[in-house]
Amino acid sequence: MKIINKTKWETNDIKRLCKTIINKVGSPKNHIIEIVPNWYYTGCAKLNGKYINLKVPEPNYFKKGFDVDFFGKILEHEIYHNMGLNHDVMLNPLKINTDYLKGITIKQKGLNV
Ligand SMILES: [Zn+2]
Repeated sequence: MKIINKTKWETNDIKRLCKTIINKVGSPKNHIIEIVPNWYYTGCAKLNGKYINLKVPEPNYFKKGFDVDFFGKILEHEIYHNMGLNHDVMLNPLKINTDYLKGITIKQKGLNV
């Protein structure tokens, strides 16, 4: 797995989160995950490839903090695309269970809390 983090969220936290999600899905691929700032969470992925692009709001955009649940749903969905699956055989991403991510938090870079 390779993480290219272009946001102000802590890279090690993002790495840990992505790894947890990839392990849960059980993907054998060496994913390349690029994370870029955006006003809402979304993603896209190469079908049958390794590249995943995830868009997430920066820490200062909303008071809510990093949405681990929604990020988990999107990344799992994009991993399936990398594994060659199309929407016709996939679950609605909003129905993906992310209970296993409870307790994981993402900090802002440079904030030691
Ligand atoms: Zn999709």
